[in-house]
Amino acid sequence: MERRISHRIYPAIKCKKEGCGKMFNPSDARQVYCCEQHRIDNNNDNRKLKYENAIAVSRIFSKNEEVLRTFYNNPKFNRESAVQKNFLEILGYDFSRFTEVKINQQTKGLVHWNFLLGIEGADPTVENFFIRNRKTI
Ligand SMILES: [Zn+2]
Repeated sequence: MERRISHRIYPAIKCKKEGCGKMFNPSDARQVYCCEQHRIDNNNDNRKLKYENAIAVSRIFSKNEEVLRTFYNNPKFNRESAVQKNFLEILGYDFSRFTEVKINQQTKGLVHWNFLLGIEGADPTVENFFIRNRKTI
């Protein structure tokens, strides 16, 4: 089998590697970097970015867990007492982050989990939350 060689000349484009921006004529339609090194560099940069994002997200889970622990470990805290949403917010709880969402089979409510602890809306307007522990539901 003979490999097909394209003799087509592609219009010049800007190298996608951040900080390069050199204009070049790609040798095939998929080429977006001016050279092999910039393709490698950019993939490494993306990997680093993904890694940094993963760390940032896991910090948020840890922070959320810490906030819930503050209530849960308080000796006055009763498992059936709900916590106001704004108390959680004041302590820095990030409601947009959770490791998983599962139905609590006992209440049929949705639990947004961090690690061991999670929150479940205690009323239809979700202004109050029960703090749930995976070991107890
Ligand atoms: Zn380049």
